[in-house]
Order: sequence, then structure tokens, then C-alpha cells
Amino acid sequence: MNKSRSEYEHRYDRHTVDICRKLENYYQEACKKEPSKRKIYRLCHELELYFRKGDRYRNRRSTIDGWIEHDREIEEKLATAKLPYPVQCRFCSNEMRNMDKFWEFKGKSNKIVVYFYLACKDCQVYCQVWESGKRKDRIPWQCPDCQCKMEMETTRKGSALKTCKKCTHCGYKNAYTLDLSEDLSLEIEKDENWVEDMARFCLNDEEGFKFLREEEALKSLGEKMKKIETKGKEKQEYNESPKMCWHASDGTRIKL
Ligand SMILES: [Zn+2]
Ligand SMILES: [Zn+2]
Repeated sequence: MNKSRSEYEHRYDRHTVDICRKLENYYQEACKKEPSKRKIYRLCHELELYFRKGDRYRNRRSTIDGWIEHDREIEEKLATAKLPYPVQCRFCSNEMRNMDKFWEFKGKSNKIVVYFYLACKDCQVYCQVWESGKRKDRIPWQCPDCQCKMEMETTRKGSALKTCKKCTHCGYKNAYTLDLSEDLSLEIEKDENWVEDMARFCLNDEEGFKFLREEEALKSLGEKMKKIETKGKEKQEYNESPKMCWHASDGTRIKL
């Protein structure tokens, strides 16, 4: 297992903080737009936040366990997957070199499937081959419009890699930039309110247990109220229903 449990916990808490910040922003904006409803918005915000934080606490352990199990399954699939056949380059017929293995979800059942990424450096072509045998060629220099060979140029500026493609045959042009500096960990480091917000939004065990107890008490109170309400309704229905009489064999009438 490559990741430690604390990394999964961090990912979960990060999501909790994001959810709660969005909620906070939403109510702050609502208060600005309608200052006269400030009190009611604050109350709604407090209530929603209370249940949201509690929900996140309740589901934390099981969600993280699910993620770990999911990753373990992927690792096992990747470790045991085998290239179904030797793959030849379509251009020079040499055997293509296996670069790496990846996985993806497939179908409605989200089945995990593994595919291999292979390359022929001489021809600068790539292909994906799935365990099932399916093959998909990746030819970066081939024009999508006329299939001729395009001119390609890649330039580096700082951490950005810019690729320009041009087809001299049909005039097709394309350019895209890949920023190599994009890193989530940097984003977290820059987040100055992270520690404070985590303490505000992620319940610790003591706070979490308190929430679960309060929620249980609220649930049982709700059930009691429902029972009282149902009894009241039944009584009202009975009082309002037309009364019937039962004629006994001896002729007596009994009111029901
Ligand atoms: Zn080749
Ligand atoms: Zn073209």
C-alpha cells in the first residue's frame, strides 16, 4: 500500500472543509443580498452546518475504509495484469515498448479494467492495449482532418510546455500548453486558513459522539411526535366518520 491512512484522512477532511466553506459563502452572499433576512439566514446556516459537519463525521471512517479497499483492489489488478499479446508498431513492424500500466472504470457497474501504454520511439507513435485485447493507436503527428503527417514543435517556457501542430497539407492548426508546476500539495500549503478551518469544520471524536447522541435523541423525539400525531388523526377520523348500526338477531340495534 503506497498511501498511509493519514493521506486518505487528509483528503476526506479537505473535502469537508471545501463543502463547509461553500456553505458559508452561500449564506454570506445571501445576507448581503437580503440584509433584512440576516437573522433567518444565520439560523439556517447554523442548522445546515451542524448537520453537514455531523454527516461528514459519521461517514468519515466508512468512506476512508472504502477508498483504501478500492485502491488495494486497483493495486492488485495492476500487479497481476498481463499484456495479452506482443504489440507491433503499425509503421515499422517492430515490437512496441511497454511504457506503463493504467486503470479505468468500465461499464455501468464501474468494473476496474487495466490497459497498457506502449510506444515506438522511432516512429513516435503510441498505443493503448487493454487486457481484453482491444487496441487503440495514438499517433500525435497525424492530422485529424486529412491523416497526413503534421509539423510539430514543442517549446518550454519556465514550467510550461507548449506544443504547436500544423498540417501543411490541409491547413489544420492546433496548440496547447501543459503546465508542469500544477501540484495539489502546493495549493494546500498556500491555504492560510486551512488549520483554522479544519478545526472549525471537521469534528473530533468528542464532538462527533456528541452529535451522534443528539441526533439519536432528535430521532426518537421525532418518532414520538409522529405517534402522537397519528393517534390524534385516528381519533379525529373516528369522530368524523358516519356511525353505523348493527342489527342483532333479536332486533336490538347496536351503535358502532
Ligand atoms: Zn515504429
Ligand atoms: Zn491535414
